[in-house]
Amino acid sequence: MAYKQDTICVQGGYRPKSGESRIPPISQSTTYFYDSTQGMADLFDLKADGYFYSRLANPTVAAFEGKVTALEGGVAGVGCSSGMAATTLAAFTVCGAGDNIVSSSAIYGGTFNLFAVTLPKLGIETRFFDPDAPAEEIEKLIDGNTRLIFTETVANPSIKILDFEKIAAIAKKYGVLFAVDNTLATPVLCRPFEWGANLIIHSSTKYLDGHAAALGGMIVDGGNFNFKGNPRYASFNEPDESYHGLVYADLPTAQFATKCRAQMMRDIGAMMSPQNAFLSWLGCDTLALRMERHSSNAKKVAAYLSKHPKIDWVWHASLPENKYHALAEKYLPHGQGGMLSFGIKGDVAQAAKFMEALKLITQETHVADVRSCVLHPASTTHRQLTKEELAAAGVPENLVRLSVGIENPEDIIADLEQALANI
Ligand SMILES: *Cc1c(COP(=O)(O)O)cnc(C)c1O
Repeated sequence: MAYKQDTICVQGGYRPKSGESRIPPISQSTTYFYDSTQGMADLFDLKADGYFYSRLANPTVAAFEGKVTALEGGVAGVGCSSGMAATTLAAFTVCGAGDNIVSSSAIYGGTFNLFAVTLPKLGIETRFFDPDAPAEEIEKLIDGNTRLIFTETVANPSIKILDFEKIAAIAKKYGVLFAVDNTLATPVLCRPFEWGANLIIHSSTKYLDGHAAALGGMIVDGGNFNFKGNPRYASFNEPDESYHGLVYADLPTAQFATKCRAQMMRDIGAMMSPQNAFLSWLGCDTLALRMERHSSNAKKVAAYLSKHPKIDWVWHASLPENKYHALAEKYLPHGQGGMLSFGIKGDVAQAAKFMEALKLITQETHVADVRSCVLHPASTTHRQLTKEELAAAGVPENLVRLSVGIENPEDIIADLEQALANI
């Protein structure tokens, strides 16, 4: 039976057997005991499911993988040490030197750096597109070496909403894997596999954990991409000599997740810790409730700010005048999350003065947890970017990013009010 998202939040990913602990124990162990050599050999050959070394798999991490996979409606998840680790491992699973990624330019600053600076050093090129550009323009970037199309559901920090159907049609036409970073929407507000995505990336550090307690990342395999015989994905169609000649495209399911774990997690080792998996699993219990409150609070704050004389502009898709309002009604009808951006009239100094005057809302390099916080991306997360790159990423210099928490909305607005009175 297919349960609804709020039910999966509290019931998904772990079902104890009689007499076992009701919530997943923290399996704080690097290794696992077996009483037969054959049992262990079957695990190494992927003939049996089980654990042998926590770099590859761990029961607590598996519980969290199970919950996120169920929420997204995918076939398998790979828990990673951070969101950046998840994106890196996902890229390495399909890309080698000479290959390219076609990516939205409206993405998280760390991902932009990975794609624009670090991966090129390894011979992996990224071609960026404006997600609002017409399909014909985006298509021009795809060639025979394109292995991945990369996007964000709700872009951080430009709060652009992705037009899934436009990108899915391009990905299908060219037989390219379509990946979406669904961190800021969460599967409670949007399920990208239902809109044609093949791969979902999460920084579970944000809403999934939700309490600013644990770094983590997740790759979810949609199981809906045909690698078999696709000339773009030779590495899925040839025997993996490093894994007993396994041909990933011949696996009945979870081809991407299996290759990612068997090759990339094995070799790079950016796995999630059991402690962090436990905290993130627990955080997801309240994800549906929290996303409802984050969304309704942000909607109220956006409406308030949009009428304030000292505010230049506000970006949140709940606002009827927002450019992405129609896309949000289609893809995120139950709420658009707690992230919003706005510009303060005046210069960067005014923005700093405003932020320092806040009393309840704190300045943090973080977003998407229960406590409201602000950040000035141009001087922090996006400070490596040039003026031109900032513009391409949709981050004006006066942009203040506000992550609206789940406090009482009147208290959040009162704090903004007194800080704005200060400038
Ligand atoms: C924070 C974030 C990341 C990176 O995640 P970490 O867990 O900090 O490595 C990736 N994508 C988005 C949209 C994010 O907000």
